[in-house]
Amino acid sequence: MVPGLIDIHTHAARSKEAPLLCLADGVTGWIDAGSQGADRIAETIAVAKSAPQLCRVLINIGRAGILPEGDTMDLNRADVAAAREAIGRNRDMIAGVKARLSRDVAGQNDFEVLKRAQEVASSFNLPVMIHMGQTISPLSKLFPLLKSGDIVTHMFAPPPNSIIDDDGHILPEVLAARRRGVHFDLGNGRTGHLRWDMAERILKAGFLPDTFSTDWTPEGRPAQVVNFPNVMSKFLMLGMTLDQVIACATINAAHAFPVFHDRGTLKIGAPADIAVLELKEGTFDFVDNFEGKRNGRQRLFPSATVLGGKRIAT
Ligand SMILES: [Zn+2]
Repeated sequence: MVPGLIDIHTHAARSKEAPLLCLADGVTGWIDAGSQGADRIAETIAVAKSAPQLCRVLINIGRAGILPEGDTMDLNRADVAAAREAIGRNRDMIAGVKARLSRDVAGQNDFEVLKRAQEVASSFNLPVMIHMGQTISPLSKLFPLLKSGDIVTHMFAPPPNSIIDDDGHILPEVLAARRRGVHFDLGNGRTGHLRWDMAERILKAGFLPDTFSTDWTPEGRPAQVVNFPNVMSKFLMLGMTLDQVIACATINAAHAFPVFHDRGTLKIGAPADIAVLELKEGTFDFVDNFEGKRNGRQRLFPSATVLGGKRIAT
């Protein structure tokens, strides 16, 4: 029995069915990380508002949201005024700004896109979550723009521009960011974010994640992501302790967004959001984003969820 899981990088607000699927996996709080931008933010907010669990959305700095051709490849889509206006209308539901910065999402615009995301966020005192990995600008250029409370997701992304150098040292700009209060998040996802050897080297260097998140989509359920407890189990395999793994999915995640201030704990007086997980022993296959297969000896399975004191029928 652990506190209800809090998944700070999902795309659960893309469909009405998603929140219930996540709830059955033990997720009693989630953040939709930038599925939509200013133009269609009302759609993700509507799903978030009708979800049974506590949830909020991040607004994509790209006003058209996630686009196959790249959210902000056209820099005009990183529209500060439009994003500010959308947040102004939805202060209660928008918990931050998402900036996806890979070369196939923002291209050469990565630095300018992040600057604009900060312009938007700072006027409302909100965090920015950046999607790192395969950026064109080096992290030494991008990370100085991150402030305390901001979140770096996809922290185990392979080169170019991973957070660790070839000699196994975490980059100084990464250490500096953590010192000033930037959070580092897993963001499992399905393509290009998680590679076993990177995770191993980064953990070996002593740089543990602050939070786990699934980057949940319906497409991730049959493979790779599966569910949040499965994602957590990968890090048991990689040598983190059960306590560390649970903290990354509960109390640490609760600290990332003020909306979860009283969650992620089983302390007396806290809302009774609980995930019942079963830790099974055996041989379990885990797959990274590069089709790398590994075996683990333990895996967490969702067994039951309690939300606000009520057991959820599954
Ligand atoms: Zn995502």
